[in-house]
Amino acid sequence: MLYLDNAATTPIDPRVKDAMIPYFTDMFYNPSSVYSPARKVRAALNESRGFVADSIGADSGEVFFTSGGTESDNWAIKGAVVASARGKHIITSRAEHHGVLYLCQHLEKLGCTVTYLPVDSEGFVSPDDVEAAIRPDTCLISLMLANNEVGTINPIRKYGEIARKHGVLLHTDAVQAVGHIPVNVDDLCVDLLTLSAHKFYGPKGIGALYVRKGTKLSPVFHGGAQERNKRAGTENVAGIIGMGAALKICLEEMSEEKVRVSKLRDDLAQAILDGIPHTSLNGAKGENRLPGNVNISFRFIEGESLLLHLDMQGCCASTGSACSSGALDPSHVLMSMGLSHELANGAIRFSLGRGNKHEDIDALMKILAPSVTKLRNLSPLYDDFIKN
Ligand code: PLP
Repeated sequence: MLYLDNAATTPIDPRVKDAMIPYFTDMFYNPSSVYSPARKVRAALNESRGFVADSIGADSGEVFFTSGGTESDNWAIKGAVVASARGKHIITSRAEHHGVLYLCQHLEKLGCTVTYLPVDSEGFVSPDDVEAAIRPDTCLISLMLANNEVGTINPIRKYGEIARKHGVLLHTDAVQAVGHIPVNVDDLCVDLLTLSAHKFYGPKGIGALYVRKGTKLSPVFHGGAQERNKRAGTENVAGIIGMGAALKICLEEMSEEKVRVSKLRDDLAQAILDGIPHTSLNGAKGENRLPGNVNISFRFIEGESLLLHLDMQGCCASTGSACSSGALDPSHVLMSMGLSHELANGAIRFSLGRGNKHEDIDALMKILAPSVTKLRNLSPLYDDFIKN
């Protein structure tokens, strides 16, 4: 199996699994119980909170565990709207994850107003556009740190400085960035930050929301007093332990791994662009791209058909976000970057990670080029192109 879909999810690191196992067995206690074994579980949970906080330059008291990226995005945005004294205007971009975009569309139905900023041809949001969109009733700016489809890393600090100048909160969805590139909440100048463990070799169904001290944020889950009365529900203890262990490993290995995976990314992109005609790279051309992201448009063919061909030969990749795989609509991210329907429909995302080696590029190229040729030979678009 050639796994090139690490942006959809990553395999759990065996060291993370080992750290989690006791919390499914001997250490099964509810951390809210008062007896001593339960207090040990509470202590382990808080130690994990410390690892998560350290990994983003936050204090432990600013980290709240959630069920993952989607919940954290929903909480950050809904919580800021409900708590806002300024008004109910939200600024976001057209290239955000559906966890943000679909929520914003829902909030519009409930009376909020939303500005969806454009992105440029590489997927960047312009800081000038952010500043121009701020109104007296703006309560929140929500812009992602790194795009899940094309890997573009936005200049979040610039947005943060603008947000502070105008007294508006800034939330960033850092799901694709945390664990892969350095992330520091003070350097980024953010008030709210979303992370999710299954994108950095931790378990699924566990994430966190960073909430800067003093930020006014209403809870979305009501019930028990867990997470300091901010997020009710018995904690996913094993998940929390796994998330902390995964982040600790990522931090230790990040500087080497970032260089190694970035080189693989560049070599893979070059191999495709040089080896297969009528291909183009989508996303940022320079430094500001996630280490593992290669997003390529193959002219004259459908990305979905190519994916199925690759799957039949044991290769896993994606057309974009895992949630929209299987949908035949062109990617909203690529369309917002100004790609034609044809180029957006013909795009594939290969995302590299810890398990990938240079041999994987050779293995992919052996099956990719013949698959593209086969599909193009069946394509009326290609036929027209050849004849003209
Ligand atoms: N935000 C981004 C940028 C993502 O890539 C994802 C997952 O693909 C999410 C949010 C949702 O995270 P989760 O799967 O933990 O709900």
